[in-house]
Amino acid sequence: SASEERREFSAEVGRLLDLVVHSLYSDREIFLRELVANAADASDRRRFEALTDADRALPADAKIRIVPDKAARLLTISDDGTGMSRDELVRNLGTIARSGTRAFNQKLSDVKPEDRPSLIGQFGVGFYSAFMVADRVEVVSRRVGEAEAWRWSSEGQGSYTLAPAERDTPGTDIVLHIKSDADDFLEPFRLETIVRKWADHITWPITVQRDGQDIAANEGTALWRKPKSEITEEQLTEFYQHLGHMFDKPWATLHWRAEGALEFIAMLFIPGMRPFEPVESTRESRLRLHVRRMFITDEAELLPPWLRFVQGVVDTEDLPLNVSREMLQSTPVLARIRKAVTNRVLSELRNRAKDAESFATFWENFGAVLKEGLWEDAEHRADVATLARFRSTAADDWTGLADYVARMKPEQEAIYFLVGDNLEALRSSPQLEGFQARGIEVLLLSDSVDSFWPDRLSRFEDKPLRSVTQGLADLSKLPLAEPQEDGADLSDLLPRLKEALGTAVSDVRGTDRLVNSAVVLAASGAGPDLQMQRLMRRAGQ
Ligand code: ADP
Ligand code: MG
Repeated sequence: SASEERREFSAEVGRLLDLVVHSLYSDREIFLRELVANAADASDRRRFEALTDADRALPADAKIRIVPDKAARLLTISDDGTGMSRDELVRNLGTIARSGTRAFNQKLSDVKPEDRPSLIGQFGVGFYSAFMVADRVEVVSRRVGEAEAWRWSSEGQGSYTLAPAERDTPGTDIVLHIKSDADDFLEPFRLETIVRKWADHITWPITVQRDGQDIAANEGTALWRKPKSEITEEQLTEFYQHLGHMFDKPWATLHWRAEGALEFIAMLFIPGMRPFEPVESTRESRLRLHVRRMFITDEAELLPPWLRFVQGVVDTEDLPLNVSREMLQSTPVLARIRKAVTNRVLSELRNRAKDAESFATFWENFGAVLKEGLWEDAEHRADVATLARFRSTAADDWTGLADYVARMKPEQEAIYFLVGDNLEALRSSPQLEGFQARGIEVLLLSDSVDSFWPDRLSRFEDKPLRSVTQGLADLSKLPLAEPQEDGADLSDLLPRLKEALGTAVSDVRGTDRLVNSAVVLAASGAGPDLQMQRLMRRAGQ
């Protein structure tokens, strides 16, 4: 029509669609999970918008409707959520808009082409998964607060069209023109089974139309509110995968109810793998805050940044349902929940640290994040120090500080460490020679955060932490493992070297620290460690 406008997809959407449409795989039903999840997200967002603008409140009977129409071969998923404006349709459905889909696309490039189809199945690819079962998708949407509606339509091949449309109320209809080989997604019973399997934790009512009637398809009891005994491992895994766009099993699951002065239920997961969205890309915890089942926000920072890899939900009775943004920032309730949840996660980690092998998996995934707590969290620094694991010259496995201290030589006063960019370089560093000759263990630190925290922690069990590059390390007090020949007389050489190097160095000295190498760079005693100096130079300081 005259008012219809045709537009091209962004290149990355085109690539994704091509893959979705041309990969045959067994798990096509996940398209429904993705569309229902989007409908639920949009409804959650509208409820949050309504907190500050009562005109946006959802209708009392808000729900997610799934309506199959066999005769017309159409499947429609409708919601009473925020809806999308024209601009939002273009941005959200014409480019790779958000989290799940973007993460998937990044991961795709790391995977061999023949493995990609299974990745789609494991991951879910958001809105675009609709094209696995539909040869045309139409989205009719009206943004809450706006009068006009828009129709977005595409066959999933390079372009889409936009045109004005009609919709009586705000919200979105996703209309799928079902492919000829996807008939089963027009069967009400089949659809109900899928909803029960995938969407049971969604708290909005979901109905599937059967014989002209909307039949409730989900229980709507939030999973975390069920007693432990009634939750299957499969449900937990499904919920975890949904929350974090993960497809593994959680490494740890914490589910508890706090009662008494503070009432809340928490269901938390520590992932078994690093998420594809790098944990470094955002610094804030995204734990979801619910009030009496209803999702409020994932921006309440219910855990400190150094525990941001923990996923999950905290559901409390101690806030009003119409809690405002201002209140979220000022209420003491959240601070108390934060404290309780943080302590619980730490005690779980302490517990799980007893199993060294399993803890190593966790540490390899998230240790670098946890160590940020050593640097920035005075309150929990000591706890994190007990949990922290390190590579060292004395062990092939990870070791903790307590074990290091237990292995210290009788004459040894300090915990020694060396910081660098990677483990191989550290292991062959001449800085270690003097220590190795005396059988002194040195911790090898190669994460970028390692340049920062040792200064802050400064001691563990009364033993000072000391970089081997800081001239302070006094090796002469410590006996050599094997006697060495006396060093040559350097009194001629040192002044000459000093003159030749000029202002490039502050001093040239003889040292006990080297055994095989001729020279080594050292930091002056009081100044920053060498690796720190390198970083400061990089940062232009
Ligand atoms: P994700 O859900 O991970 O953000 P999707 O591909 O599933 O990625 O969806 C892309 C975006 O399209 C969403 O972030 C949202 O902004 C928008 N969207 C999709 N479905 C709806 C809907 N039913 N109502 C409102 N917005 C929607
Ligand atoms: Mg989605």
